[in-house]
Amino acid sequence: MREGAEGRTIAANNGIATDAPFHSVTPPLYASTTYAFPAFNEKGPYDYSRTRNPTRDLLADTIAKLEGGAGGIILSSGMAAIDLVVSQLTPNATVVAPYDCYAGTYRLLSKRQERQQIQVLFIDQSDPTTVAAALDKRPALFLIETPSNPLMRIVDIQQISEKAKTVDALVAVDNTFLSPALQKPLSLGADIVIHSTTKYINGHSDVVGGAVVARDKARIEAMADWANTVGTTGSPMDAYLTLRGIRTLFPRIEAQQESALELARFLSRHQMVKAVHYPGLGTHPGHDIARRQQRGFGAMLSFEIHGDMSSVRRLVDRLEIFTLAESLGGIESLIAHPATMTHANMPMAARTKAGITDALLRLSVGLEATADLRSDVEAALAAT
Ligand code: PLP
Repeated sequence: MREGAEGRTIAANNGIATDAPFHSVTPPLYASTTYAFPAFNEKGPYDYSRTRNPTRDLLADTIAKLEGGAGGIILSSGMAAIDLVVSQLTPNATVVAPYDCYAGTYRLLSKRQERQQIQVLFIDQSDPTTVAAALDKRPALFLIETPSNPLMRIVDIQQISEKAKTVDALVAVDNTFLSPALQKPLSLGADIVIHSTTKYINGHSDVVGGAVVARDKARIEAMADWANTVGTTGSPMDAYLTLRGIRTLFPRIEAQQESALELARFLSRHQMVKAVHYPGLGTHPGHDIARRQQRGFGAMLSFEIHGDMSSVRRLVDRLEIFTLAESLGGIESLIAHPATMTHANMPMAARTKAGITDALLRLSVGLEATADLRSDVEAALAAT
């Protein structure tokens, strides 16, 4: 790949036409679990697929290049990626996480805390006073999720990174909601980027996977060693499919975010809608930071309706294009009800504190025609 190539070129072209034996344009899938030794006591570049695999390495290299990191690791899920970062901490280290983070992250950190492996502070990372109080506890890691799931709160990555450095804390950003097409946390001062590649990077809702990228080579090597030790690296087939997905990452997310903005504007004018959470709206409290640190506002949004659980049920039942399902970032539009789905595991008190009400719905806007998506939502709102 040419030095200085744009992200869109890297995504579409990294590793294309590099196959030495047969000149295949699409990089092949290396399914073999094991590799022949060239000679006795002489190891080639690959020996065993849990440790390293050419297909997985190409995906890791592509994501690392897109994020501007020293290297990447491909894991079997986004949760395995988050846990890989957390597992590097010394016993009882303090982690500062967002109080409105993805519920799976909340569960992972809480369970590691219950087992007395780490201390966790779940805070509002957009509040400077709370961040300052957390810094006093000398954390080892700031875990940032921006935009947050499902309330789309924006955290200033550069500001937190500068503050974290004053106490030698690492900063890891879960970049799942935007992908490197729209946000590059390492360029804003973060040390580590995490992805659930299940979402936009693969983009076709047919692979569960994760990735970690680090600014520093030694750090990524240490984490790769641990991923091999515990065996959480991803499968070659998953890497192959995810590479196929990443080729179209930029045009996909760019088209999807155009529809998301249109839907957010439509919803914010609708009488049945109490609040719309989309950083692309000028009224969003994180709009200015998002403008500065993102290349686009993304294709995720959430909104709260006037009404209760039964109004939500009527709305969801009426939808024809949006499918009621967990997950996000695929080419198809999905709707989720965080209180009964993605965030059902979160304790009620934590959910209330984070602002996740029963009337909140989250949209992952897909690639369908904008006008059809809008008509679908309009008809569903009329049914509430
Ligand atoms: N991070 C975020 C922001 C997510 O939304 C999710 C899943 O929804 C994850 C991490 C976990 O990823 P996975 O489901 O691939 O383990």
